[in-house]
Amino acid sequence: MKVLVPVKRVIDYNVKPRVKADGTGVDLANVKMSMNPFDEIAVEEAIRLKEKGVATEIVVVSIGVAKAQETLRTALAMGADRGLLVEVDEGTVVEPLAVAKILKAIATEEAPGLVILGKQAIDDDANQTGQMLAALLGWGQGTFASKVEVSGETVAVTREVDGGLETVSLKLPAIVTTDLRLNEPRYASLPNIMKAKSKPLATKTPADFGVDIAPRLETVSVAEPA
Ligand code: AMP
Repeated sequence: MKVLVPVKRVIDYNVKPRVKADGTGVDLANVKMSMNPFDEIAVEEAIRLKEKGVATEIVVVSIGVAKAQETLRTALAMGADRGLLVEVDEGTVVEPLAVAKILKAIATEEAPGLVILGKQAIDDDANQTGQMLAALLGWGQGTFASKVEVSGETVAVTREVDGGLETVSLKLPAIVTTDLRLNEPRYASLPNIMKAKSKPLATKTPADFGVDIAPRLETVSVAEPA
């Protein structure tokens, strides 16, 4: 079974974001960027499924600027097999719906058994992409996963809900989004970082998938918290 893991390049979680002086957004100039923490958990889960013999190939995909290649290389160094960058111009914001449409096209082409996403990206805190992707594909979804168990044609996902834990059983192919307690992602070792440099990484554009990424939302203002 192939596993598809979308990973987003975001401001590193240790960095305190600075709001631009004109209040139009967050200043990304000279800021450390890293893989979205929930996506590291998604990559780790896919690798564990491969180590158990459940997954056969892990494909990581990022929709972002050219530098998102670094994020994909990090995932390859952790243990993913192949990367795909869907490249957009510097400064372009791709909203969750457009990301979900691109991922739908990729999932249709790649036919994975599971797509494992983060529950949310820590930059926009949207918590939308996995749910929208499940709806667009017509697949079941297990969001906020703290445990994932594949057996045969189904996956049991234990979800962190307000009242405690809920377990849902989904028919494969399915969408899973990760919560914090699913696992602790590994660090890539130096030899694996070197090996990752020669793993395949393809580049495409949103137009290759026929997706219009023009924003539908207008940001009215961005302000520092009080
Ligand atoms: P969001 O709905 O923006 O909070 O993001 C939820 C999850 O969708 C993230 O944790 C990623 O797994 C995936 N995702 C969102 N945006 C992107 C992107 N530009 N590239 C790859 N994956 C993304």
